Amino acid sequence: MTSSLQAQDPLPQSRHIVTAIPGPKSAEAIARRKEAVSAGLGMAFPAVITRADGAIMEDLDGNRIIDLGSGIGVVTVGNSHPRVVSRVQEAVKAFTHTNFTTAPYLGYIEVCEALNDLTPGKFKKKSVLQNSGAEAVENAIKIARHYTKRQAIVVFEHAYHGRTNLTMALTAKNMPYKEGFGPFANEIYRMPMPYAYRWNGNAATMAADALDDVMHKIEKEIGADNVAAIIIEPIQGEGGFIVPPKGFLSGLSKYATQHGIVFIADEVQTGFARTGNYFAVEDEGVEPDMIVTAKGIAGGLPLAAVTARAEIMDSSHVGGLGGTYGGNPIACAAALGAMEAIREEKLVERAREIGAILHSALTAMAAKYPVIGDVRGRGAMQAIEIVMAGSKEPNPAAMASVIKYCQQQGVLILTAGTYGNVIRFLPPLVISDELLKEALAILDQALAAL
Ligand SMILES: *Cc1c(COP(=O)(O)O)cnc(C)c1O
Repeated sequence: MTSSLQAQDPLPQSRHIVTAIPGPKSAEAIARRKEAVSAGLGMAFPAVITRADGAIMEDLDGNRIIDLGSGIGVVTVGNSHPRVVSRVQEAVKAFTHTNFTTAPYLGYIEVCEALNDLTPGKFKKKSVLQNSGAEAVENAIKIARHYTKRQAIVVFEHAYHGRTNLTMALTAKNMPYKEGFGPFANEIYRMPMPYAYRWNGNAATMAADALDDVMHKIEKEIGADNVAAIIIEPIQGEGGFIVPPKGFLSGLSKYATQHGIVFIADEVQTGFARTGNYFAVEDEGVEPDMIVTAKGIAGGLPLAAVTARAEIMDSSHVGGLGGTYGGNPIACAAALGAMEAIREEKLVERAREIGAILHSALTAMAAKYPVIGDVRGRGAMQAIEIVMAGSKEPNPAAMASVIKYCQQQGVLILTAGTYGNVIRFLPPLVISDELLKEALAILDQALAAL
């Protein structure tokens, strides 16, 4: 093992490719993976990682890869950020676990205080911590139902909320998330989503038309008084970075308030500095009753949260909420480190700068390559939709070639989308302009090579 030696030298923040991807050592480990690990897990990038720092990951064969995915929007502050590492080291030496509902500790309380403070809305808020986005979404729904004494949940086309039974039911896309995994939870009602690129109606009135449609369906098919919660991602993540038109989220939020419905923003992917605000709903000044966070909040450790109006969070009887590991002290320490990093390094502002670089480069590529049908997103959450040139027909084959080309050149890019044809960019916010531009130049080559 060379881990002690590796830990001593800093990982250079540069791309460096010495083998094909996967190289021979990665290929050998991937063969072991095939024998030992469930075939139900995908593998977007075929290289086995040994260490990572900032926006660079190194594999078993010594290749250094530019990370434009942040482990699906998780290491927003960069991999192994020093603030996260030092807080985690201190915490793990102090104690590893008590269970917060057995014997509490400060880290959990401090993370809740920070979330109550950072989430939009001047009203009194409280939080509860969990292990994963899906678990937090489940808790959000559970709490909203208990508070309203209603059952129906309104969700949207193209939505993604997780892989547990309830969150599969909330998620829109069948393959691969739901196929054969039913039966699903009931009292879930799916509404049309204004997806600008594929909207058949009048673009100018899209927000109002979509809202009318949603309100009509709620009234006729459910009854507004039966709805416990409306849950929506302020920018849909897995669905393909679908940005709702201005006025849609604020209209939904207003409608929810009028009818005593809890408005839940699932900010698991959009949250925490990613879009150039702490939360994506801030773009429209929306103040959700409840916000779900996970992914980017703890610098890579598993942590999730539900933050809501105090009266909603306090409506549950004692013992109604909890879990063995939720708000684990090491994960809380990591979250406090990540929050410090975001503040000290002004990563909210940095997300806007990264967004501007991404958006202008992608727009320039769209002008050259007709397979790019759409460029969209906000801040450091941008995407391109790949289509057959001259139409809007999804082109997942071209997307796959582009991804493969980038992989061979040591650039990790993620995909998304209901039609499997969206390339999404979620770089760590500590990436340098140079590294980002180098990765984008490789993407340009990949598109030219089609
Ligand atoms: C990833 C994601 C989830 C699920 O989070 P897990 O931690 O994978 O359970 C829920 N909602 C959104 C919007 C997500 O992007």
